[in-house]
Amino acid sequence: MIKFLDLHKVNERFQEAFQKQFQLFLNSGNYILGEQVSKFESEFANYCGVKYCIAVSNGLDALKLIFEAYKVLGKLKEGDEILVPANTYIASVLALSHCRLKPVLIEPALDSFNIDPNELEKHITSKTKAILGVHLYGKLFDVNRLKLFCEKHNLLLVEDAAQAHGAKHLDGRKAGNLSHAAAFSFYPTKNLGGLGDGGAVTTNDYELETVIRQLRNYGRISTNENEYKGYNCRLDELQASFLRLKLKYLDQDNKKQQSIAQFYLNNIELKGVILPACENIESHVFHQFVIRHKKRNELKEYLKNNSVETLIHYPIPIHKQKAYRELNHLSFSVTEKIHSEILSLPIYATLGENEIREIVSVINTFN
Ligand SMILES: *Cc1c(COP(=O)(O)O)cnc(C)c1O
Repeated sequence: MIKFLDLHKVNERFQEAFQKQFQLFLNSGNYILGEQVSKFESEFANYCGVKYCIAVSNGLDALKLIFEAYKVLGKLKEGDEILVPANTYIASVLALSHCRLKPVLIEPALDSFNIDPNELEKHITSKTKAILGVHLYGKLFDVNRLKLFCEKHNLLLVEDAAQAHGAKHLDGRKAGNLSHAAAFSFYPTKNLGGLGDGGAVTTNDYELETVIRQLRNYGRISTNENEYKGYNCRLDELQASFLRLKLKYLDQDNKKQQSIAQFYLNNIELKGVILPACENIESHVFHQFVIRHKKRNELKEYLKNNSVETLIHYPIPIHKQKAYRELNHLSFSVTEKIHSEILSLPIYATLGENEIREIVSVINTFN
């Protein structure tokens, strides 16, 4: 069986280095918010090309801290409406709900899987205050058009960059530096993944950075003074040290994923398959390689019977989830079509050349 994602293989490459880091970590006697976290923060800020990075507990908390901090700063308030793509992972929308902001779901474009800039205008009300754009599957959303739209309507632009570490805009800026603030996840399956949970916020906004740094740690401004009713959203030292190691290989691993994607794009020839759009390979780090097919379920079953494991990101759209009962009456035709037709193929740094060829040849024989 060709695994959809072999995390053991991906991480085995760093086994000795991880063990060395663990020993140093144990010996340091300093396990929370120490040197490893602050070094990771400056290295990741540097990688993304931003002034500030705050390392946090996970991607969901990174998103929540951004929106809570904007509330503290008076730029958002409860009940404000935030535009967010309807086909994103549920975490993007949960962050808004937890912050008592109102998610307004927007249809994606069928070809990019990202928020459709043409759909935005009709959802603007006096309460609209921000767009939470998502670089879904590792492909940057239409940064230029979303930025223009936000300027026109005086909205904040926030990136959910949980799937897009290292994705590069044509102008050279990277994910994390394409909006007012960005949230990353270092969940083990992400392009930069730890051996546990982790996340980060990146921004060039000093005020926002300051508040998020305090909210991350109980709202403390000094050892015994608490300015806000904050949270515990800290990243731990051990994860930070592992992430520092893996950050050095992120570009190399992304390049490998891009080359697998290029191979799929050039060689998958099955009639009826719609391959992912990719105008500019640098701006897509292929967290997932997502194809569409009208007979998606049969194709998935056929691949499984031929030893190729695939997944669906995601089978149930947010507005059809029980958790969002209040949205169950809505219909989003593009989103629903996407969810019924998409299939994610294996794509990761340690996938072998023979395996990649095998996957393509199995797909091409489906009928
Ligand atoms: C993974 C992910 C998140 C959440 O990250 P966690 O670290 O799992 O909390 C948020 N948004 C998107 C698009 C994701 O893929």
